Amino acid sequence: MNTFNFQNQPIAVFSDFDGTIAHPDTINFLTEIHGGLEFRRKISRRIRSGEITLRQGISAEISTIKGSLNEVLEFLIPQVRIDKHFPLFVNWCLKNDIPVTILSAGIKEVIEQILAPHNLNNLQLRANSLEIVNGCWTLNFLDESPWGHDKSTALIKAKSEGYKTVFLGDGLSDLRAAEKADLVFSKRELTKLCQENSLPCIPFENFSQINIQIKQLLMKGTIKYSSSTE
Ligand SMILES: [Mg+2]
Repeated sequence: MNTFNFQNQPIAVFSDFDGTIAHPDTINFLTEIHGGLEFRRKISRRIRSGEITLRQGISAEISTIKGSLNEVLEFLIPQVRIDKHFPLFVNWCLKNDIPVTILSAGIKEVIEQILAPHNLNNLQLRANSLEIVNGCWTLNFLDESPWGHDKSTALIKAKSEGYKTVFLGDGLSDLRAAEKADLVFSKRELTKLCQENSLPCIPFENFSQINIQIKQLLMKGTIKYSSSTE
């Protein structure tokens, strides 16, 4: 049994986007459409074996995408579903002075457009920005890390400012942030990675469950949970 006690410290929530808030994962989806399923799987295998870094893998995937941003969005947006509880959760957090930040190794401009209809004005977003040169899609990565975006940086900063950090994610790009977070909610691959790395985590399916947990946390100041790693 684990205990998360926030001892009246403020809470900051950080979440991955693709596969955590948005389904399907937009980078995987676009790569499968433009580069093919087999190509996407091959990149995934090479990342997992350590043959290439996540940053190199994402670069290779993005480079398969063809068309203008508008053309790609026109096709992509109808295919993407946002967790219907996410906008409610964000608005509830903001009413309770809990900052929410999306940390993504994906494409900032794509995420902004997918979320635009929800008017989540105070939601913060850190993701890699897109550059299209002569029709070729590339990313301006946020940092020099092999992850393309080291998500732990934002958590370390928030902790230094006195926040207790809550992190939500679903994949390999989330592991470094999960290692630094005070409380981790996980899906799919991140749950498995946390288990392999003996990191306590709470598996979740949707943001309504997260909202209930954080409401309880604010009321009681603490939550006790059995981690999937136990
Ligand atoms: Mg993800």
